[in-house]
Order: sequence, then C-alpha cells, then structure tokens
Amino acid sequence: MSRIDVPEDSPFGPENLPLGVFRLGDEEPRIGAAIGDYVIDLAPVAAAQMLDGAQLFAEPTLNKFLALGRPTWHATREWLLELAQEKETVEPYLIPRESVTMLLPFEVADYVDFYASEHHASNVGKLFRPDAEPLLPNWKHLPVGYHGRAGTIVASGTDIKRPSGQRKAPDADAPTYGPSQRLDIEVELGYVVGTPSKLGEPVSVDSFKDHVYGVVVVNDWSARDIQAWEYVPLGPFLGKSFATSISPWVVSLEALEASAVPLGAQEPAVLPYLDGKDLTNFDITFEVKWNGQVVSRPPYKSIYWSAAQMLAHLSVNGASVRTGDLFASGTVSGPEPDQRGSFLELSWSGREPVTVNGEQRSFLLDGDEVTISAFATTATGTRIGLGEVTGRIVP
Ligand code: CA
Repeated sequence: MSRIDVPEDSPFGPENLPLGVFRLGDEEPRIGAAIGDYVIDLAPVAAAQMLDGAQLFAEPTLNKFLALGRPTWHATREWLLELAQEKETVEPYLIPRESVTMLLPFEVADYVDFYASEHHASNVGKLFRPDAEPLLPNWKHLPVGYHGRAGTIVASGTDIKRPSGQRKAPDADAPTYGPSQRLDIEVELGYVVGTPSKLGEPVSVDSFKDHVYGVVVVNDWSARDIQAWEYVPLGPFLGKSFATSISPWVVSLEALEASAVPLGAQEPAVLPYLDGKDLTNFDITFEVKWNGQVVSRPPYKSIYWSAAQMLAHLSVNGASVRTGDLFASGTVSGPEPDQRGSFLELSWSGREPVTVNGEQRSFLLDGDEVTISAFATTATGTRIGLGEVTGRIVP
C-alpha cells in the first residue's frame, strides 16, 4: 500500500478530504473528495467496494449524505482516510482537479447570516453611526443575525451581476434608482447543517456537532449604498440578497477539529442557553485577493461568538433547522487594518482608498475579480485548506 501523492503546499492533504460536487465533461454531476491535485470519483470506488449506500455518491448534491447524520459522516471519513493510503485501489478513479467543473455542493435550504466579529461590528458601527457607541446594547448578549436568501447562493466562479436599486447620497434630497456604486465583499465562514431539528425544539450549544457537518468559505456580496438607505429599521434586504458565493469543497468539522482553539473571553457573561462546556473556535486564516493582489488576511480566531452559540441562538425560539441550511459567521475582521474583511472597512468607507495594482480603489468596478481562500492551522502547524471562492463583477 502507498499513499496518494499530494504536493506539500496543497490545501487538500490526506487528513482533509473535503467533499464536493463535480462535473466532468457532459457526464452527470456527482460527489467527489479532494486530495492533492485530484478528485476521487467516489461513486465508482464505493460501488467497486460494495459499500453500503454507495449510490449516495452518485447524487448531484450532498444533501442525502448530509441528512444521514454524524455516524455516517464519521464512517465516511474513516473510509476516505483509508482510501488516501491506498493509491493502488483509488488510482483508476482519480480525476485531475483541473479537468472538472465544481458545482454548488449542496442544495441550500435556509440561509442565516450572523454578525459575529466584534472588530467588524465596531468598524461598521463607527462608519454607519459615527455619533453613537460602535456596538449596539444587544451585541454582546446575543449573536445578531438575519435571515438571508437561500435561492441566490451561487457556486464559486459564478459571475456577479452588479445589482441596481434605490440609494440616496447623504447630501441628496431624494433617492435615485440605478446600479450600486458601492459594491463590496464580505469574508465569512459558512456552516453547513446536515441533521435537521424538530420544530419547537431548540438545538443546544452542546449538540452543535450532531447537526453541523462542515464549513465553506463565503463571500457575501453587499451593495453598501442600497444597504445604507434601506436597512432602517428592519435590517439587510436587497443590498445583500442579489448573490452570495460559496466555495465548492465542504471541509468536515472532524477534519477541522485539529485546528480548534478556545473561544475568547465573553464579557458580560452570556445567558445559560448560550453557555456550553466546550465552546471552541477555529484557527482559520482567510486571504483576500482583489484582481490578484492580496489586500487582507482576516483571522477567524478573532471572532466573538462560537458557531455552536450561533446555532443555539437561531433555534432558541423553536425554529427548526433543515438539511442544507447554511449559516454564516458574518464578515470576519481582525484588529489590524490589513485584517479587515470588507472593502467598506479596508477603504474606511472610501476615505482611505486601497492601492490595487497601482490604482487607488475603494469599491468594486465592473470586471473586478475577488478570490477569498482560507486555511486552518493545526496545533502541529499542519494546514487544512478550505479552498477558495471566487467571483467577477459584470455590468
Ligand atoms: Ca454578511
């Protein structure tokens, strides 16, 4: 037995093995696992090994797999870890990653977007409400969030059409309609729900891992001018709902576990339903490329709320979760200027433009391309890549 060859700098080493949905030529879309420069075509391997449920991997989405729950996720991971060590068995089913098209990995059920980074919330508070306290009084008592639009979540690589809408400049008398002039990104981590919960039964912080399968990288495209005019008093609406891009490979919580770090201190103390015995965070670093140039490296480690608290909060009123639900962290910004996860913050609302390939820039122009990648770092220094999410603005 020998291992499948993996280049040393690959995001997808033999301990990662994220799942995604790929298309090869005009063949039916199906499920694969990423390793090094390859996709393992799982359906035929599973069939050849007469694995129970082998047909799951011939599905065009991960939903059926996700719905089976934690014991199946764990057994599948054990199987994949073995496959990674059995090059001879797997070799006939390895497809170069560069020859496949990656699709949306799961059919998105409901989408919730949080606002869990204190640095981001403070920055936005200072920019949108300069005369008030940056954080609103509720912020440290509950993970603030809103329900987003699941139907406009798109696969990485999908072109993003510049949204139009109402916007009103601060010095204008009346709003006008037209293309957004302040189109932005939001760097986020997205959590993928597998096991549903029952209506009327909150999900406790301690059962997070029974419901959430894994994570993707999220770019929550945002039209700041539309958002600023419409969001009072009910919150984000058309400034957010036109498109949200996600990365194609879903990295399992089991793979990410090696990068778990304790959650930072929460003061004031949270209510009991948000308190848990094992509140963790992940040591994940994002990298934002604007037309190929790195402009920011937001650290997920700096987030205030843990994902288990987000899930507990979004269900505490009895709202149920469904297979394929996605809930995202909200923009991740670190304490340093070059760790900000939106161009609104990076350019300080246009007042301090960013130099991109020699040009002074604040918001997205047509033709711009943004790529957000991420990796988790384990205690031993190994990197677990989350891959990347990319998108280009078209008029
Ligand atoms: Ca967001």
